[in-house]
Formats: sequence, structure tokens, C-alpha cells
Amino acid sequence: MPAVADQWAREDLDALARQGLRRALEPLSSAQGPEVVAGGQRLVSFSSNDYLGLAADPRLARAAALALESRGVGAGASRLVVGDMDAHHALERAAAALMGAEAARLFNSGYAANAGILQALCGPEDVVFSDALNHASLVDGCRLSRAKVVVYPHADARALERLLAEAGGRRRVVCTDAVFSMDGDHAPLRELAEVCRRHRAALVVDEAHAVGVLGPTGRGLCEALGVEADVRMATLGKALGVFGAFAAGSAEVVELMANRARTFVFSTALPAAVCAAGEEAIAVMRAEPARREALWRNIRRMAAGLRALGVPAEPRSAIFPLVLGEPARALEVAVQLRARGVLVKAIRPPTVPEGTSRLRFAVTAAHSEAQIDLALEALAALEVRVAA
Ligand code: PMP
Repeated sequence: MPAVADQWAREDLDALARQGLRRALEPLSSAQGPEVVAGGQRLVSFSSNDYLGLAADPRLARAAALALESRGVGAGASRLVVGDMDAHHALERAAAALMGAEAARLFNSGYAANAGILQALCGPEDVVFSDALNHASLVDGCRLSRAKVVVYPHADARALERLLAEAGGRRRVVCTDAVFSMDGDHAPLRELAEVCRRHRAALVVDEAHAVGVLGPTGRGLCEALGVEADVRMATLGKALGVFGAFAAGSAEVVELMANRARTFVFSTALPAAVCAAGEEAIAVMRAEPARREALWRNIRRMAAGLRALGVPAEPRSAIFPLVLGEPARALEVAVQLRARGVLVKAIRPPTVPEGTSRLRFAVTAAHSEAQIDLALEALAALEVRVAA
């Protein structure tokens, strides 16, 4: 057995463990939902992004099962070769209608979408402006594009404007999360869009944590604020409960994705069953706005409960960070909450900046009031102190 990489792995894993940053997988032996079984224990989960409670919905499973029977399991090739199926186009039409966009292009995940969108739009002569707290997939999209990357201070449209005014570049693209995944706060999209307009930059918005959550019809933060973006990315793996993602925009932009985005061109197409479940999820989401209302009742309950405990919290998204500081502290509080029946995973660097390890609570439409109160009572009993 070759032992070269093995030695490297051992060294790196030991180093991670010493810093409290080694990660471990822990399989659930249940479906996704507000209650899960982990390590033989039934726990109330606050760590999934299944915001509308659709991941285990039987209607989605049935749609997938029907497509499995008629189309088989694997797509067999990339879409540009022979993996393209009617199911992909049906889902793209549904996604475009959901977003009120001219067109939408499917990607195999939100990660693949963000990596592909920026690279399709720009190259080495261009400049991409990226919020300092953007998701890793946008960061990697910047790298894959080979454009010059300018990181602007978090949610700071004025700083962005100064940087844009100084920058040259053939094309300029501003990219941002709509709802930031680890803090739950919003990008100042109106201001960003205005800056983009003044400087003829394109705006790419990642609506991963906003679709299904924000906006009068659940299209996300752009809809909520009445902002037009050049490209909106949304994943099907969070509020929609399935897997995959799409870029919504004009017909030409979407067409360019199929021609240029490496993560689209060089990857096997999504299975038809996943597409069918995604299409059903969009139909259910649009037909059942009561899910979003239930989610917001829970968001407000969680925010009020956290504030009563002295934890800063705003009802602005489904995400509530409890910033604790060092990785060991976040791990320790997660263990204590688990002993009280609450499953919430510690989030540590590099997912969040150094010194801001945290527990990231996410509430969903499927949580009962009693389940939310269980988390709040567990936190009250621990008298958790938040990092300054
Ligand atoms: N963007 C953001 C803001 C995310 O939080 C995530 C998922 N963690 C992604 C993109 C990637 O989406 P997916 O999980 O579909 O790859």
C-alpha cells in the first residue's frame, strides 16, 4: 500500500484535532425533519436547511419514484452529450416561473452553480467583487473564473462603490449571498444594485437561504426588496427539500451557462428522479404559502425567545447564530444541548472566521412551538454566554 498520502493525512488530521477543528461525519438513521435519530438518540434538529419541511414530503418522494420507474436512475452523460432529458427542461421551466425569470439553467448543486456562473460570465481580463462573508462556493467561483478578485467589506455598498470606481477591468461582476448562510443577515441589495447600475457592473445574487423564505411569493430577497439582478442562483437542496440548483436570468445569460460553465458542461446530468422531485417541490411550495407563514411564526418565536435570553437575534431569516468564540466552546455547548435533546452542530473555521465559532440554529416550518421552546429552555438552563 502506498503510504505517502497516508502520512500527510495523519499529520493534517492531527493538526486539525489539536486546534479543535477536526470534523466528523455522523449519519442519521431517520429521514430529515424536525425530529431525527442520530447515534440511536431521538433529537430535535436545528441544523437542517429544510426550511419548508419538504425534504421528507411523500409527494416529492412519489414524484421521484415515478420518474425512477420511467427514466431509470442515472442520466448516463452530461446534458450536452446524451444526458439531457425532458425532466431537466420541465424543472428549468418550473424554476424560471418560480423566480419570475425569463429562463433558468439547472446545475448539479448550488456549489456547482456558483462555481460555474462566475466562470461563465468572466475571465482573466475582468474583475469580480465579492462580499467578505460570501459562501465558499462563490469564493471558489471567483477563483475558477481567473478574474481579478476584489473582496469588499461585509455588506458595505459604499466601500464597494469606492473599489469599483478604482478598478479597471473589461467586465465587472458583483456577487453576494442574499441571506448570509452563517449569520442570517441580509445583503443591502438595493444599494448594491444602485452601485452596479452606476458602474455598469453585473449583479449575481445567491438566494440559497432566501428562496422559499423571503419575498411576497417566496422568490427571495430580490423580490422582497424589488431589486433586479443579472443572475439569481437558488438551490433546490434547502427550502425546496431536494437537491440541485439553478441560475435564473435572461434567456441569453442562461444559454451562456450551457456553453461556458465548466461545472455544467463537464459533469453528468442530474438524475430524472431528482428533477421530478424538484418540480414537485416547486409546485407544492407555490400552492402552499401556509408553509412560509408557519416558518415565519417560528422565526418570530425563536427571535423573541433568544432576545429574552439576552442573545441578539432578529427575525430576518431562518438562521440564528449563537456566536461562542473558540471551537472547543462551541463543541462543548453542542454536547450539552444534545444531552437535553437538542441537535445543533458546531460551526467552526474555515466555515466562519476565527474566533467566531458558533452554533447555527435554523428553524423550519415543520418545527412545533414546543420544539422551539425546547431549544430555548435548554439554552436558558445552560445560561450560555455569547462571545462579545
Ligand atoms: N450558497 C450558499 C449561500 C450556501 O449556504 C450553500 C450551501 N451550504 C450553497 C450555496 C451550496 O448549495 P448546495 O448545497 O446546493 O451545493
